[in-house]
Amino acid sequence: MKAHSSEVTVFVRIRPTANFAKDLIECLPDGQTVNIYHKKDCRKLHDSKKGQRSSWSFRLQGVLQDVSQEEVYAQVCQRVVLGTLDGYNGTVMCFGQTGAGKTYTMTGSTESYKQRGIIPRALQEVFQEVEKRTEHAFSVHLSYLEIYNETLVDLLSSLQGSPHLSPRDMVVMEEPGRGVFIRGLSLHPVHSEEEALNLLFEGEMNRIIGCHTLNRNSSRSHCIFTVHIESRSRTLSDAKYIASKLNLVDLAGSERLGKTGSEGQMLKEAMYINKSLSFLEQAILALGDRRRDHVPFRQTKLTHALKDSLGGNCNTVLVANIYGEAAQIKETLSTLRFASRMKCVRTDPAVNEHMDPAIQIKKLQKEVQRLKEELSIYNTLVNRPSITYEPLSEAQLAEIHSQVQSYLNGSLKEISIISIRQVQAVFAQFKLAVHEQEQKVKAQLCQTYNLVNRDQTANTATIKTLKELDTRSSTEDVEASSFGVAAQSPKNTQRSSSTKAKTKKSREKQSQNKRQGEGSPVSRKRVESASKTKPNPVQTPEKEQESQEADTESQDTQESQPPANEPLQTDSPPSKAEAFEDFKIGQGSHINCILKENKAMLLERRSLLRQLTEEVNTVKREIDCTTATIQQQKYMTGGQGQYFSMEGEPDATLLLQLRELKAHYRQRYKALRDIKAEVNYCQHLVDQCRLRLLSEFENWYKKSFLLTEEELNVNLDKTEAQEEDGQQCLERLQFELLAEDPSAESFCNARYRTQKRRNSRALSFTPVQRNTSAGPGQRRLPPILPVT
Ligand code: ADP
Ligand code: MG
Repeated sequence: MKAHSSEVTVFVRIRPTANFAKDLIECLPDGQTVNIYHKKDCRKLHDSKKGQRSSWSFRLQGVLQDVSQEEVYAQVCQRVVLGTLDGYNGTVMCFGQTGAGKTYTMTGSTESYKQRGIIPRALQEVFQEVEKRTEHAFSVHLSYLEIYNETLVDLLSSLQGSPHLSPRDMVVMEEPGRGVFIRGLSLHPVHSEEEALNLLFEGEMNRIIGCHTLNRNSSRSHCIFTVHIESRSRTLSDAKYIASKLNLVDLAGSERLGKTGSEGQMLKEAMYINKSLSFLEQAILALGDRRRDHVPFRQTKLTHALKDSLGGNCNTVLVANIYGEAAQIKETLSTLRFASRMKCVRTDPAVNEHMDPAIQIKKLQKEVQRLKEELSIYNTLVNRPSITYEPLSEAQLAEIHSQVQSYLNGSLKEISIISIRQVQAVFAQFKLAVHEQEQKVKAQLCQTYNLVNRDQTANTATIKTLKELDTRSSTEDVEASSFGVAAQSPKNTQRSSSTKAKTKKSREKQSQNKRQGEGSPVSRKRVESASKTKPNPVQTPEKEQESQEADTESQDTQESQPPANEPLQTDSPPSKAEAFEDFKIGQGSHINCILKENKAMLLERRSLLRQLTEEVNTVKREIDCTTATIQQQKYMTGGQGQYFSMEGEPDATLLLQLRELKAHYRQRYKALRDIKAEVNYCQHLVDQCRLRLLSEFENWYKKSFLLTEEELNVNLDKTEAQEEDGQQCLERLQFELLAEDPSAESFCNARYRTQKRRNSRALSFTPVQRNTSAGPGQRRLPPILPVT
C-alpha cells in the first residue's frame, strides 16, 4: 500500500471459519482478487432461470484470509499511521455485516495482547514514532465519538476535565483551515501509549455500558476513534506546524435489518443504520464520480463527520469484513460491491501545514530586536550613538516642532536628517505648518474683505478647498470694492449668485484675467489701487471733469477701455466694458461702424460750428466797434450833446461798413443756425446709434452671460456715463465759447452745473429721454450774441 495513494485503498478480510464456502468464495493466489459465485434467488426468478449461477470478481488491494492481527495492521494501517505523523490525514474504516469482524479488526480482543486490533497497534506505533522523531515535538490528543441513531455520543465524556455536554450540544462543524470537527467532543491529551490505551479502553467500556443501559447492540452504532497529532520542528524556530488526524472508524453492521421484519427499537436502529449507510454509499458514489460537483456529506451525521476522511486530502483505507460461510453470501456480495465502489474514490493527500500566529509574532519581534541591535552597532561605528529607533517621545516631537518653526522663519538653515522616523515627524510638522498658514491666510482674507467665511465650518480644510475659497473671495472682493458697496449688500449677494451662473464664455475671460495675475491677493490690491486712480464718473465728478478735457476722438478710445469701476474678476463673467469691446468688433460691428461715421460727421459739424461761432462773434465785435465809432463821431461833431456830423451827416463809410457788417453777421448767423441744426441732427443720429448699440449689447450680454437685470442696469449706466462724456464735452465747448462774453458766464456756469448734475444722476438717464424731451436736459443751440 502506498502511504500517499491517490485512491481509497480497499482490503477484504474474511472471518475465519471451519465452513468456508469454497465453491461460493474463491480467493485467487494473487492475494488481491476474490470471486463470488452465487445462485440466483429461486423464489424471484422465472423457472427457466432456476438454479442459474452468477459470478462476480472483485480485485482489491489485498484479500486478508487467515491473516493475523499483526499482519493486518502492517498491511492495512501502518503506512497510514506513518503518514499521519508526517502530516497527512488518515482514515481506516471497517465496513461489513454484523459479526463479520469489524470490531475485532479495529479494536481486537481487549483481553489478548496478541489479538489486539488496529487501534492499539496504531497508538503503539504513534508513540514509538514520537520517541524516534526527536527533531519534532509532537502533541497527541484522542477523541472517541459514537453515532447512534443520528445522535452524537462522546465516549470519553466520563473522563475528568471533559465538558459534560448533552448529545444535543454536540454538532458536526466545518471551518476553513480546520476542516470538519465535532463541537463539544472532548479532546484528551495523551503522552504515552499507556495513557492512550487507557482512554481507548475507557471508551470501549462506555460503549458496552451504553449498550446495556439503553438495551442496544454495539453493532447498531458507528464509532470513530480519532488520534489528533500536532508536530513542530524542534530545530527550526518556525511558525509552521503540522496538524493531522487519524480516524479509525468502526461502522455499524451493514446488513439490511429492515428486510428481516425488525420491530420497535430494532426497527428504529435499522432505519437509522440503513439511512446512514445508504448515504455513505451515495457519498462514496459521488466521490467516485468525477463529473459530480456536489457530494451529499451533510445528509447524515456519519457522512458529515467523515467528510474529510473519505476523500479530499486524506489517506483512506477501507476494510470490507465478510463472512466465509455460504449462509451470508448475499451480504458478503453486498459488502464487496460497496468495497469496489469505494475503490473508485480518488483522494489527494496533502500535508496539513499551519502557521502559528503566536510563534510568528514572537519570531518577528525577535527579528526586529536583532535588527535594532545591528543598527545600534552600525550607528556606533559611524559615530552616531545617540540615535534610537524607538517611537519618538513627546520631548523629541516638541524639539522637531521647534526645529521646523526655526527652519521656516529662517533662523535655522537646515534640519539634519537622523532617522526615517525623524524625517517622517519633520514632514508631519511641515504639513501642520502649511495647514496653520492656510488657516491664517483664510482668516486674513475674510477680515480684509469683510467677508463671511462660508467654509469656516470645515475644520479640516484642504489646500484645494482653501484655494477655491481664495479665488472666490478675490472675485468678490474686487467686485465689492469696484462697485463701492458692502459685500453683504443685496446687490453683492445677487452678484455672487450670478457669478455661479457663469458660462463657457465667461471662463475664457477668466483665463485672460488669470494670465494677468488677478487671482492672487497681491495683484488684486494692485487692481484695486489702479481702479482708485482712474476717474469714476459716478462717484467722482471732479475726475469726470478732468476726463472731459480730452477731445471727442479720445472719448471713443475711452469707450473701448474697460471702465475703472468695472470688476476685474477671476471667477465671474467678463466686465461689461470688456464684453462691450468684444461686442463692438463682433456682433455689433455694423451698428458700431455707423455710429463711428455719425460721430465723425458730428465732429466735422461741431468744428464748423465753432468756426462760424467765432466768425459771428468776431463780426459782432466789429459791428459793436463800428457802432461805437459812429456814436463817438456824432458826439464829437455835435458837441453839447447835440448830434451833428462834420459835414452835417455821419461818416458814410462807417455807416456803409456797419451795414455790410450787419449783412455779413446776418448771413453768418444764418449759416451758423443751419450748422447748429446739422449738429443737432448729427447728435441725434449718434445718440440713436449709440442707443441701438447699447440695447443690442445689453441683450447680447444677457444672453451670453446670464446676468441679472440689476447688474445689467448698473453696467449699462456706467457705459452710458462714459458715452455721456462726449455730450459733456460739447457742453464744455459751448461754455468756452460763451465765456468770451462775460455776461453769459453766470448763465453758462449754471447750465454747465445742471448738465453735470444730470449726468451724475445717470442711473435714470437714457439717450432717448435726453434727446426727445424738452425738459431742462434738452440740448440747445449755442447762444449767439444779440445784435442790437
Ligand atoms: P462485528 O464488529 O463486525 O459485529 P466482531 O468484530 O464483534 O463483529 O466479531 C464477532 C466475533 O467474531 C467476535 O467474537 C470476534 O472475536 C470474532 N472474530 C471476528 N473476526 C475474527 C478473526 N479474524 N479472528 C478471530 N476471531 C474473529
Ligand atoms: Mg462491532
